[in-house]
Amino acid sequence: MADTVHPLLPPTVPLLHRTGVAGTADVQVGGTGSDDGLLVSPGGDELATLLRGLDGRRTQRAFLAEAGRAGHDPTVLTAVLDGLRSTGLLVDLDPADLLASDAGPAAAARTRSELPTATGRGSGARWRARRASAVLVDGATRVGVPLAALLAASGVGRVSVRDDGLTTAGDAVVGGLGAEDEGRPRVLAAGDAVRRASPLTDLRPLAPGSSTDLVVLTRPQAASDPVAADLHRRGVRHLVATVRGETGVVGPLVVPGATGCLRCADLHRRDADPRWPHLALQLSTGDALPSGATVTCLATAVTAAVQVLALLDGTGAPLTLGTTVELRPPDLLPRTRRWPAHPDCGCVPAPTGGSDPSSSGIPADRGTMVP
Ligand SMILES: [Zn+2]
Repeated sequence: MADTVHPLLPPTVPLLHRTGVAGTADVQVGGTGSDDGLLVSPGGDELATLLRGLDGRRTQRAFLAEAGRAGHDPTVLTAVLDGLRSTGLLVDLDPADLLASDAGPAAAARTRSELPTATGRGSGARWRARRASAVLVDGATRVGVPLAALLAASGVGRVSVRDDGLTTAGDAVVGGLGAEDEGRPRVLAAGDAVRRASPLTDLRPLAPGSSTDLVVLTRPQAASDPVAADLHRRGVRHLVATVRGETGVVGPLVVPGATGCLRCADLHRRDADPRWPHLALQLSTGDALPSGATVTCLATAVTAAVQVLALLDGTGAPLTLGTTVELRPPDLLPRTRRWPAHPDCGCVPAPTGGSDPSSSGIPADRGTMVP
């Protein structure tokens, strides 16, 4: 391990004093819940104070040098840090992650809670990637606004919400638009909701045609929305996150050219029911009323946020690539449906030299599509 890493022991990791069998003063680091812990023997107050100082702002080299001047053995301390790393309790920040954080003590306090999850072992500069990302939430709905707030609070640098309607009483939801917003333009009220969660997030609307990392479609009938077709044409990645009826729906996440698109899903529905296009047209006519119980909307927003962060962080193929996750009351237990590219759509080039599902970016073991 290079000594230029910036080790962080999250302040929430408990440091507990205990007495060893031989009467030594020991320190137990973590290990009180489902996480692994590390017992350091002998330990004591001084060691606990030193470990508490691992705030990610100094290099390991600087930390060890300072500890050495205070009379500690750098070799022993290095072994302790390595032990903490192997348990996953200690994370190494990339200096760029720190530079990418907002300045000021309040922003630093907010970031402190987010960094341990956003910066895993061997993950590189995930936080920096989030801070540099721009996400557009299309629809200030009971899912869209809490989702925008979640993304901003999780470190996404630029979050804009697009909606040209006025807030109604039914739009109010925990973490989203409020009862006091009734009658205000939804886009302004959504900006306030995001700002409450993360005051320094860039909320400026994206200029038409400017690049965005992802668009989240939060209106109930997003699949038949011309917005989706336009996004696909422009090669913009997009994710559905909405409530249809009482069921939360997250996905599919569409990567144009690599996964099936929303039209593919529509064609699969048509195969299952030839009258589907006629029904879909009726469903997409007129403004949809706010729907979904609060718990369904928030569970949908959280599930979507996890997918968005997985995509932005680049930590692996998000579950919703070519797949929907449905959250149906009352238990809201996730159920997945796969939506492969439809042969009549032509949005994904036909595979050559065999059918390797991984080449489309969709993991092969996601079950089958049940329209
Ligand atoms: Zn398609």
